[in-house]
Amino acid sequence: MTKDLGEYKNYIFDMDGTLYFNPPVIKRLIAIILGYYIFHPWMLYQLGQWMKYIGYEKKKNAKGFSPTVYKWLVVKLSKIIPKYEDKRITNFIKRQHSLGKKIYIYSNVPLIEKISALKLHKHIDNWFCPDGENITTLKPDSAGLEYIMKKEGLKKEETIFIGDRFKTDGKCAVNAGVECLILPKKQKQREKLKELFF
Ligand SMILES: [Mg+2]
Repeated sequence: MTKDLGEYKNYIFDMDGTLYFNPPVIKRLIAIILGYYIFHPWMLYQLGQWMKYIGYEKKKNAKGFSPTVYKWLVVKLSKIIPKYEDKRITNFIKRQHSLGKKIYIYSNVPLIEKISALKLHKHIDNWFCPDGENITTLKPDSAGLEYIMKKEGLKKEETIFIGDRFKTDGKCAVNAGVECLILPKKQKQREKLKELFF
């Protein structure tokens, strides 16, 4: 980041772990998933779909989203996240958008349900995730970000990508030549950066 956060014209945000705090959400989701399979052991045949997803995720291939994985990692997760929203960040988004700045969300995972859950549709210009057509790879591959920059007509020097993982978001931004800000995952550590988002 080479200037004050408020000075950029375009902001691209990661979703998971960036607009909400990931650690408590993951804990809650794992508890719900385990509870489900304990009481529905005959559904354990779905384990194969989970393993496939994990394998694809490791290879940064966007094809692993089966209906089972979608149900848990998108539909169920969307119901949990409002409680753990990072309101400092989402208020920053609302403020910047009302000032005429461009706001985008770019995730490796389908995200329309999460945008609804956080009630952000009116405050963003567009959102992107792998769609098998225009974006076919996962971050840190920079092709998706490069597609977004081109499609939306964004200049690199006016844009910042804000995420929570250097391995995915940071590397993706660096590979695309876009500036980035990587936020700490834990709420307490993020408190230290609060003045950034005023
Ligand atoms: Mg993330």
